[in-house]
Amino acid sequence: MITLNILHLYPKEMNLYGDHGNILTLKRRAEWRGYKVNIIEHHVGDKIPDNIDIIFGGGGQDSGQSKIEDDLRKNAKQLKKLIDNDVPCLVICGLYQLFGDYFQTAEGQKITGISILKSHTIAGPTRLIGNIVINSPEFGEVVGYENHSGLTRLDDDAKPFGIVVSGAGNNGEDMTEGEIYRNCIGTYLHGPILPKNPRVADYLLLKAIQNQDPKIDKLKPLNDNIELHAHSVAAKRPR
Ligand code: GLN
Repeated sequence: MITLNILHLYPKEMNLYGDHGNILTLKRRAEWRGYKVNIIEHHVGDKIPDNIDIIFGGGGQDSGQSKIEDDLRKNAKQLKKLIDNDVPCLVICGLYQLFGDYFQTAEGQKITGISILKSHTIAGPTRLIGNIVINSPEFGEVVGYENHSGLTRLDDDAKPFGIVVSGAGNNGEDMTEGEIYRNCIGTYLHGPILPKNPRVADYLLLKAIQNQDPKIDKLKPLNDNIELHAHSVAAKRPR
């Protein structure tokens, strides 16, 4: 029987606008298909085990990002190794920013990131707040909620998670939202993102399961009527 070890990075400091719901979604959607799930909470000072199947980290205030900065840097090598071994990963907002090169706050404090994603972020003059809809080549329409001061610029060779349909996304200017590197998705979408976008949840689960058993080519389908209804309600909300 396959067991999935899901690493939850900094649940105390990095958990905004329902981000924890992403963990519940991954756990439930895996269990509904008969897989066993262990949630491994990583707090500052803990050691990250080697046998991680999915990495998840949420958003946080600038002060939360500051608190975890050193610990994240200490674990950068191992996180990079996991992601370069195609372990699926989802990082939202504050951790999305710190998986890139750095986040510079409105006060000018530079919080150093771990450069797994190819981007850097500098706080802008106003916060970008509201409902957001994006279009992604892999997942189609993805809906969520954003609230960030940071304006993220992707390096030229980075691949965005999607293109903004309504909302701001990475910086409110170039229409990009988030980034995908290997099986790692960085995005500004809170909400939480996974309950309303089950295709994204299943992408992470399938990649994790295939890493253990490459013969599995698809997940058992679930009845997603409620999830898809929630998706379409969210997509119609005004910005
Ligand atoms: N503190 C960061 C910013 O304001 C991230 C915010 C968040 O995670 N929602 O840009």
